[in-house]
Amino acid sequence: ASGYNLLRDPRYNKGLAFTEKERETHYLRGLLPPTVISQELQQEGNERLFYKLLIDNVEELLPIVYTPTVGEACQKYGSIFSRPQGLYISLKEKGKILEVLKNWPERSIQVIVVTDGERILGLGDLGCQGMGIPVGKLSLYTALGGVRPSACLPITLDVGTNNEELLNDEFYIGLRQRRAIGQEYADFLHEFMAAVKQNYGEKVLIQFEDFANHNAFDLLARYGTTHLVFNDDIQGTASVVLAGLVAALKLVGGTLAEHTYLFLGAGEAGTGIAELIALEMSRQTKTPIDECRKKIWLVDSKGLIVSARKESLQHFKKPWAHEHEHVGNLLDAVNAIKPTVLIGTSGKGQTFTQEVVEAISSFNEMPIILALSNPTSQAECTAEQAYTWSKGRAVFATGSPFDPVEYNGKIYVPGQANNAYIFPGFGLGVVMSGAIRVHDDMLLAASEALAQQVTQENFDKGLIYPPFSNIRKISAHIAANVAAKAYELGLASRRPRPKDLVKYAESCMYSPIYRNYR
Ligand code: NAP
Ligand code: MN
Repeated sequence: ASGYNLLRDPRYNKGLAFTEKERETHYLRGLLPPTVISQELQQEGNERLFYKLLIDNVEELLPIVYTPTVGEACQKYGSIFSRPQGLYISLKEKGKILEVLKNWPERSIQVIVVTDGERILGLGDLGCQGMGIPVGKLSLYTALGGVRPSACLPITLDVGTNNEELLNDEFYIGLRQRRAIGQEYADFLHEFMAAVKQNYGEKVLIQFEDFANHNAFDLLARYGTTHLVFNDDIQGTASVVLAGLVAALKLVGGTLAEHTYLFLGAGEAGTGIAELIALEMSRQTKTPIDECRKKIWLVDSKGLIVSARKESLQHFKKPWAHEHEHVGNLLDAVNAIKPTVLIGTSGKGQTFTQEVVEAISSFNEMPIILALSNPTSQAECTAEQAYTWSKGRAVFATGSPFDPVEYNGKIYVPGQANNAYIFPGFGLGVVMSGAIRVHDDMLLAASEALAQQVTQENFDKGLIYPPFSNIRKISAHIAANVAAKAYELGLASRRPRPKDLVKYAESCMYSPIYRNYR
């Protein structure tokens, strides 16, 4: 009887790789065809095999497990639902969230990625179908950061959806009601956060993912002092982009403070990145952060953020409302501000037009252009457009992957500025040090470690990020730097502090190699 169950459980199944002896002792005879093959040769799905394939072919498979394919998976999640990959906690479970958490089969959880599905990638409100995002992110926690799969818990909070198409879709898997807001939403989230702490203790990392910005900043502020919380869209993105910029300066020259930054999009990603750049600038120059913020400008759907708009701005935009006359669109903003760095975080595709790229290229020898919006369809411009319109002079990276481009006989390789570089290693660092809070300096530490991993060989190709093929090594360095900072700040609870944190990080990492069943 146990043999049949062994084959059905993706965590334990190893298919045709079960040895003769294992087949004998675990009642597997007859349930498998006679051939025994190695893990390397296998093609079917089980957990260890999945992770082995992913780790061994990360560059090739990342776009499938993650952006852009994960976006499509979310759009079609209803029709592909097969077995639970995470917890769905809906308003129906109000008052019983702790009980729902106890239904999950694993007890020792280290990382939770939670979404309410309201802003999935640049695709908008996908309600309960947003589950693809926590599932995808946690598979990267394991593959790229080495956190054990059984210690990862994906959660979707279903508070309704405002997506009319889903509300009218008979196959929609979520609650068929409009989103809870205000006190009802706050109370539900509060019950959830309390239940998580009660069930898993203080050292579980809760990553907020793809919440709309009208909730994301507030949740981070509210729970940042009582829970171990991290918002990947705000903080992880900031850390990865800062690393790319620091690396880009080696190609372009100048210090962070000597550059001028213009963002298209002033939401979680935009203002999160802006704030971390300002913080690092302030550390480097020993100038108050308010002064540093003046080097950074943001454009939202209403135009350049300027002081005349201050009264009506959402609170996270206010620090960026500098003195300037009204500017209505990006092209005019580029010409008015003359940025050296242009960053797209609007979620809207094709917004870095030919005019925009030509304008920034007209007053910069090497403009830094980052088109961060995901998935591919939402990228501000393609790699080909960036290189062609800048005549091959742009230092360019994108959120979703783009193939290398040939321009005037030269090959240009766009880097992928994606938070997948940071959050797995960051999470590992937090978990392995037993950190109880996330501090901004830990984000700077992650960023610094990533920037240090860019080699001369990468720079020679114009890359500002190292290739993903080395990601486990990169994650170990990020984890070590984050953990070191947590110890330094007195936020780490694991004693004694391991001497060699890189080695320790590596030793903590999950390996997908099959174990032997005796
Ligand atoms: P968000 O909080 O909703 O912010 C979007 C911002 O873009 C808002 O300020 C919005 O303006 C502005 N905007 C929208 N359409 C615009 C337009 N046509 N012109 C000018 N501004 C416009 O979203 P987010 O969390 O920052 O995410 C934005 C995008 O970044 C998404 O596509 C996401 O996938 C991507 N992202 C990428 C990474 C990465 O690692 N590469 C990480 C995180 C996010 P209003 O405020 O006026 O509405
Ligand atoms: Mn996200």
